[in-house]
Amino acid sequence: MPPLSQRCCQSASVRENGGVDRTNAGAEAGTGRTGLTGAAGVNLPVLRSHNTALVLDLLRTAGAEGISRLELAERTGLTPQAVSKITARLRDEGLATEAGRRASTGGKPPTVLRLVPEAGHAVGLHLDRDELRAVMVDLTGTVVGERRTSLDLGAGAEAVVDAVAEEAGALMVGASGAGSVLGVGIALPGPLDHNRGVLHRVTGFPEWDGFPLRDALARRLGGPVVVDKDTNAAALGLAVSGESGSFAYLHLATGLGAGLVIGGAVHRGARTGAGEFGHQVVQLDGPPCGCGGRGCVEALCLAAVAHGALDEAAHVLGTAAGNLVALLDIDLVLLGGRTITAAPDTFLRGVRTVLTERAERLGEDPVPVRLASGGVAEGAAQLVLARLFSPSRA
Ligand SMILES: [Zn+2]
Repeated sequence: MPPLSQRCCQSASVRENGGVDRTNAGAEAGTGRTGLTGAAGVNLPVLRSHNTALVLDLLRTAGAEGISRLELAERTGLTPQAVSKITARLRDEGLATEAGRRASTGGKPPTVLRLVPEAGHAVGLHLDRDELRAVMVDLTGTVVGERRTSLDLGAGAEAVVDAVAEEAGALMVGASGAGSVLGVGIALPGPLDHNRGVLHRVTGFPEWDGFPLRDALARRLGGPVVVDKDTNAAALGLAVSGESGSFAYLHLATGLGAGLVIGGAVHRGARTGAGEFGHQVVQLDGPPCGCGGRGCVEALCLAAVAHGALDEAAHVLGTAAGNLVALLDIDLVLLGGRTITAAPDTFLRGVRTVLTERAERLGEDPVPVRLASGGVAEGAAQLVLARLFSPSRA
């Protein structure tokens, strides 16, 4: 196989680290060779017009009850004729179907339409530094298949690409006949470039720098792949599932990061560099951090967790959350990640205490803090579905 496009100027130092081989990681070898559409029936075009996405999004949020064409026209601002044209096409494609009739308010009772959840699926994978969780969701985001396995993110590209292909392939085979797989979303620790799907110096695993993960996996899986930071994927998943306004998702597990949703859309910054929340320096002479800096909030938080001092970790997290609230004036802070879900009350209390003290000093209402309802893998699947339903949000 020819190597994929790469930042070859960095190959030497990476090879010296004994790390990642930046070729296509044995793209044709091994297991998981399932083409994305090979496991299923119809091949649905993922990219659609803005108007079609608006209609699809309303069909999705209407649920099983459905929504009439007239309501679709009112909510989208489109003409009834335009809505009829779009819904006819969606019905032809099997994405929408009739869901009965509404009670009449005079005249002919209107037909309501609903989304067909099983008409398409997306696979979402969360690559953490030590484990991989994969889910398959239907068009409503409901999880219909799930796998979990251990993973060493430092094992090199070939091993990691193999593991991802195997898990994604196993889920897709399981969904055979259930509907089309639209693509695979991959969420992992940053930093990385979401637009190009290229990894940067992943904290703790700098040998990934420059690896074109999206293209390597797209070639291996035979279909569309989207790559994003774990925190951005989770934040998108939360926005899709109903968290509105501007909020921060704070993720504490093997690292600490934030996903930001500003005005309903994921905020990644110009280079996917936004949300590097864990590497804000809160102690100038503090302990060294995996990023190369000192005194980062991630280093302090992980050290406290390692010593079993969860109250202290929660206080550190709350302090950093306070900085973020002051910087962005957000409506809500959501907490997630396995360290937090293992002791949710401790972290909720700790973060709330700091944010409440801050609000009292300012004479304001404290920003609410809650546990996040979704996982990173579910959010990764939404990276794919967002292209169908809500391109402006993602
Ligand atoms: Zn750092």
